[in-house]
Amino acid sequence: MTGPHPPRPGAGTPAGRPPVDGNAAAGLLGEVLAVEVTTAVAECRGCGAHAPLAQAVVEVDAAGALVRCRGCTRTLLTVLHVPGGVRLEVGCLAALTGAAPTGGAPGAGG
Ligand SMILES: [Zn+2]
Repeated sequence: MTGPHPPRPGAGTPAGRPPVDGNAAAGLLGEVLAVEVTTAVAECRGCGAHAPLAQAVVEVDAAGALVRCRGCTRTLLTVLHVPGGVRLEVGCLAALTGAAPTGGAPGAGG
């Protein structure tokens, strides 16, 4: 037998729904990326600390920024400038939880 095996009915997802492609996650991922990052709460996998990202220790240089947990100094994440964009590398960041934007889009005028 060759080729990919078809998904089993009811397998693959906790809810038993058939998996779909990455476009289905785009909306939720967009919400995560749209949160106010400074107030978003970072959970450290290293020590279990929960703290707003604004309280993290950040080392900035020309290459980017290294964000460390204030509790245990492990690297939570790294943001790097790369040709054509930016690169986010997740380290000891277990989760990032933020409130949804409350409207008032900038640049709307008035
Ligand atoms: Zn930590």
